[in-house]
Amino acid sequence: MDAITQESLSETGWDAVAFDNSYARLPEAFHTRLDPTPVSNPRLVKVNTALAEAIGIDPEILTSTDSTGVLAGNLIPEKAEPLAMVYAGHQFGNWVPRLGDGRAILLGEVVGPDGIRRDIQLKGSGPTPYSRMGDGRAVLGPVMREYIVSEAMAGLGIRTSRALAMATTGEIVRREGPEPGAILTRVAASHIRVGTFQYFHGQRDEASIRTLAEHVIDRHYPAAREAEDPYLALLEAVALNTAELIGSWMLVGFIHGVMNTDNCTISGETIDYGPCAFIDTFHPETVFSSIDTGGRYAYDQQPSIGLWNVTRLAETLLVLLDVNQDAAIEKAKQALAGYWPRFEQVFHGGLCAKIGLPTAEKPDFELALDLLTRMANQQADFTLTFRRLSDAPAGDIAATAMVRMLFDDPTAYDEWDAKWRERFTGDDLAPTARRAAMRAVNPAFIPRNHQVQRAIDFATQAEDFGPMEELLSVVVSPFEDHPGQEHLALPPTSDQAVTQTFCGT
Ligand code: AMP
Ligand code: MG
Repeated sequence: MDAITQESLSETGWDAVAFDNSYARLPEAFHTRLDPTPVSNPRLVKVNTALAEAIGIDPEILTSTDSTGVLAGNLIPEKAEPLAMVYAGHQFGNWVPRLGDGRAILLGEVVGPDGIRRDIQLKGSGPTPYSRMGDGRAVLGPVMREYIVSEAMAGLGIRTSRALAMATTGEIVRREGPEPGAILTRVAASHIRVGTFQYFHGQRDEASIRTLAEHVIDRHYPAAREAEDPYLALLEAVALNTAELIGSWMLVGFIHGVMNTDNCTISGETIDYGPCAFIDTFHPETVFSSIDTGGRYAYDQQPSIGLWNVTRLAETLLVLLDVNQDAAIEKAKQALAGYWPRFEQVFHGGLCAKIGLPTAEKPDFELALDLLTRMANQQADFTLTFRRLSDAPAGDIAATAMVRMLFDDPTAYDEWDAKWRERFTGDDLAPTARRAAMRAVNPAFIPRNHQVQRAIDFATQAEDFGPMEELLSVVVSPFEDHPGQEHLALPPTSDQAVTQTFCGT
């Protein structure tokens, strides 16, 4: 680190990165400009060169030694305009008028070869005016969790923020005990949240709500510009995207764990992987987060929480929808009316596809729900049941045996299996085609909690990132078999199971 100074940065390529910072150009009320706080002994422990390429940053810049300084917040690329964003939010339903980036700094935005504009943000980069009682830092465990799980979500085809790099700071951060400090470089379509709108709503700042809505339409929903009422079209689009996002979570057994309005993006991407986890043994009421004692963000609550969040967004937009409050409310209701149909389209259709019935008619969906009920009653593993089921359409005994053994009482599966086969005999899908279609939607690999924890333990206790690399190598292409890595597809044994997760903030 020592040889690299701000002056020599120009030789590295980071100064050539064409940051174009549309959020920084918004009025002062939207952010506070400040640099990350330098750290004493940064070390880059992971870079995502494939992502760099996709977003228009030369992978060689990312792997250059100087990158360590940039990605740890010690050096600022020339065209970056570091800032902390302000936002508000409902945390577990409680209104907080001002939150904001308390431990994150937006370096700036880049536009990729695909024409998509993306934020590059450092998370864990030191205190800001929004840190409240926090230290502005992040620790290695949660940073690794976010890196692994967000990249796994991308591999599953789910809209998400991404992880570009991970650095350790060489500093100790106090949490429950001393922990190694770390910084995640996060990439997202933007970090604008429902809570960003709520902040200005709370300030009764109609002009800023309008400015933000305009920015968001330009950036994320250009089609809304063509609509008769662009603001209404914006609300409608966010509602649909949120419904789709949560539908896609439900289909892989993902529990976000802290779907507060400040963690609910306007773009419809998953962000803030705090206490998130994937279900092993299926149960609809599963909660992992240690602080979610009421189960507000339980697996089966997520669809209605998504609507609750976009309803809070709707409240902030009323002033833009109509001068007449009642008329505005009526319009907003209309815009939100698309939420459940879209959720059902994604979730019902997706669940039918998971059992190999792409026609997705009502009896198909009921059959899929019946399977879920049996899985819940019989302690069956969510991911493995669907993956093994994918190999069973031809009806050979060995493949079927692999599924039924996942149920405490295998006869509960046998009854369902008979109904399932009855349903698809007669349709014209060949068993091999059904198998291929099912394998394409039922992942073999998810970042199972006990494996994520194991990767974190090796890294924090022994600076061994091998288990993380191994886990990442399978979760980024989760629909492939990865011979030799079958152990990473297995559910935890009872002594391996991790049943609680922590925000780690
Ligand atoms: P989260 O629960 O991670 O979504 O964070 C909620 C709020 O707390 C956001 O405003 C964060 O920026 C802030 N926050 C979380 N952890 C810290 C920390 N260690 N230091 C400062 N602010 C934090
Ligand atoms: Mg957050």
